[in-house]
Amino acid sequence: MGIKEKQVYQGFELGPIRPPSEARSLLLRVTRNCAWNKCTFCKVYKRTKFSFRPIEHIIQEIDTIHEVITIIRDILEQSPHQTVDQIQTADDRFSSYNRNLLYLALDWWLHGNGAVFLQDADSLILKPDQLAIILEHLRYRFPWINRITSYARSHTINRISGTGLKLLALAGLNRIHIGMESGSDRVLNRINKGVTKQGHIDAGQLVKSAGIELSEYVMPGLGGAELSEEHALETADALNHINPDFIRLRSLTIMPDTPLYGQLISGEFKKNTELQTIVEIRSMIEHLTDIASIIKSDHNHNLLQEIDGTLPQDKHKLLQVLDAFLHLSELDQVVFQLGRRMGYFQDLHDLQSPARRTYLSKVCSQNQLTSATIDQFLEQHTPLYM
Ligand code: SF4
Repeated sequence: MGIKEKQVYQGFELGPIRPPSEARSLLLRVTRNCAWNKCTFCKVYKRTKFSFRPIEHIIQEIDTIHEVITIIRDILEQSPHQTVDQIQTADDRFSSYNRNLLYLALDWWLHGNGAVFLQDADSLILKPDQLAIILEHLRYRFPWINRITSYARSHTINRISGTGLKLLALAGLNRIHIGMESGSDRVLNRINKGVTKQGHIDAGQLVKSAGIELSEYVMPGLGGAELSEEHALETADALNHINPDFIRLRSLTIMPDTPLYGQLISGEFKKNTELQTIVEIRSMIEHLTDIASIIKSDHNHNLLQEIDGTLPQDKHKLLQVLDAFLHLSELDQVVFQLGRRMGYFQDLHDLQSPARRTYLSKVCSQNQLTSATIDQFLEQHTPLYM
């Protein structure tokens, strides 16, 4: 039966998030939502229920994406300079496909990086032999894929044997993203992460010894003002034991409708100022020793996105970036915070732009902004910054 006559699979599903580093990856949802769903700072899956997707639906979805890409390749071979819109309307074989699936496949083929990201929050909750079926089918359909990655919880990884992880590595899982958040047991307990520092260390070491790349997400500010220093030191210590391939910073943003927001409003949680969070990040990086990890600040929530380098050789450079901010005058720190959060600045070099700096200094002066008031001002004027 040809593609045109075939009953085309329409049950395409897309999960809500992916890591920033997977912006150009094909997104393939293998489970729905988060089975844990209890972290106090996280609202992504609140009011949703976890479920497994039937394996046969996932396999069908892979096959359908493969069919769509086969058609796209045919079209582009005949006329290589078509735009996305032209391709979408170029061939009546597309008419029966789910439009979102069609767009996803088209975007991946034209602008993708040859990588696949498995959604949602913890794909390794699937039994390793089941997940291996999906991985192998992806590799079979797209032999040119260069990377398959997934989120996973440390708790889940610790329940899989080393053999299970090696099976996944053999089937083609290249990288796991873990939300470590903190290495401090007190912070992990308060945020209800469902894992201890030792649990994070064990899981990280298991992933590495299975030959899978490891990306650890750390959340500066999560200990609040009270546990800021402990959060920095214990996180550095956990990372030193793991030696992940990537350390990714994602500074705390407290979203309404989360338990942490309730704790903030009640006064139970006292959050850092942005200045305190920069001091905290500096302390963490200063205490990273004997590891060879790439540190990335690849999220807009981070004040300083230019923290980007490889340990150990770039440690001094990373500390210099943080010191450059910490050594600014109080007014320049406030102007920079305002510029970043209002979208006028990308990095510290932008402070040298006379026009933007003059304008922002004027805003600071009109609103009598100081280091003591800037955080509150931003909370009131930039809804995503809390
Ligand atoms: S495990 Fe991840 S997705 Fe699930 S609640 Fe915690 S932070 Fe959110």
